[in-house]
Amino acid sequence: MQTFEFTRPSDVTSAATAAASAKTAQQGAEIRFIAGGTTLIDLMKLNVEQPHMLIDLNRLPLGDVETLPEGGLKIGAMVRNSDLAHHPAVLRYYPVLSQALLSGASAQLRNKATTSGNLLQRTRCMYFRDTTMPCNKREPGSGCGAINGANRMMAILGTSEHCIATNPSDMNVALTALEATIHIQNAQDTRSVPINEFYLLPGHTPQRETVLEPGDLITHVTLPAPAAGAKSLYLKLRDRASYEFALASAAVIVTVENNRINYARVALGGVGTKPWRSQEAEQALAGVTPSEDRFRAAAEAALQGARPQSQNGFKIELTKRCLTHALKLATQTA
Ligand SMILES: Cc1cc2nc3c(=O)[nH]c(=O)nc-3n(C[C@H](O)[C@H](O)[C@H](O)COP(=O)(O)OP(=O)(O)OC[C@H]3O[C@@H](n4cnc5c(N)ncnc54)[C@H](O)[C@@H]3O)c2cc1C
Ligand code: SF4
Repeated sequence: MQTFEFTRPSDVTSAATAAASAKTAQQGAEIRFIAGGTTLIDLMKLNVEQPHMLIDLNRLPLGDVETLPEGGLKIGAMVRNSDLAHHPAVLRYYPVLSQALLSGASAQLRNKATTSGNLLQRTRCMYFRDTTMPCNKREPGSGCGAINGANRMMAILGTSEHCIATNPSDMNVALTALEATIHIQNAQDTRSVPINEFYLLPGHTPQRETVLEPGDLITHVTLPAPAAGAKSLYLKLRDRASYEFALASAAVIVTVENNRINYARVALGGVGTKPWRSQEAEQALAGVTPSEDRFRAAAEAALQGARPQSQNGFKIELTKRCLTHALKLATQTA
């Protein structure tokens, strides 16, 4: 691990200013914000991340969950994953988010991990984490070790010939189905980005994962008010029952009226290079009478564009079954 400067501001403006001045003082210097540190410190120890400056966010007043006047929720960037999962408003109105958070990592990690850190957690691709291996995401132009290598865990949706890594987060899948908005501040201004536009596909530039620019600080996330009568659910399939990343997962939100689905939001995890919203599945569900055949048709639509690698073709059928079952469970309680 290389040496780095460390600063611990106590307000958001100071944090954004520290990031901007570090950029100005040292052209091209890598600065990183540190929240829970459960991703960043691991990657620093592996020399995958080599920041010159760490800006600690733990003293910023970004640790609250607030109900918004219009009925939505405002989640501070530093709200811990455990606190968010057990917050009464999340349990009551956004159970898909609570379930997704509780399916991730371990209790100790969730106590430390934060909302913004989870949004920006890096891929678990083994070649990305090993600096002796080629990886276009870590070192652009060096090649992709996974494409002709160990690719069982990799993505089947949104891949490119340069990168096939999954976004590993569970929380991000639920936030995508919930149509969250990410709020960002830097030394100049503030802006808000819908989550579906926040993550970038790898294309020719897999090193760019989000629309964030150097020095951009996530301050909070907002959720719209839940649809009236909505039922939501997160289903995660993995190699072992806990402490394991998803092979495939589905976040679903549905409302059923007069035995017809009149609102559906679907996002998939473990299979996309970003948290994967499936508007194809949502369209296939619009207005239909809930049935296993209809759910399966929605799952077929969601996976139509899937491109498997040599070892992960099984994910296509697994994901179809995951989504079909998630819809069945969600509508049983609707
Ligand atoms: C053993 C293990 C198992 C895991 N299993 C799962 C799992 O099953 N499912 C799952 O979803 N996750 C899993 N995780 C990942 C875990 O959820 C993440 O490590 C955690 O959410 C990251 O949050 P953090 O606050 O610790 O982030 P940090 O490590 O502090 O930061 C992560 C990144 O976000 C940036 N950042 C943080 N906050 C901000 C901000 N406000 N603005 C701008 N940039 C910011 C940092 O600079 C860094 O690049 C696992 C992790 C481990 C170590
Ligand atoms: S899949 Fe992406 S992260 Fe993994 S080795 Fe290839 S380029 Fe790197």
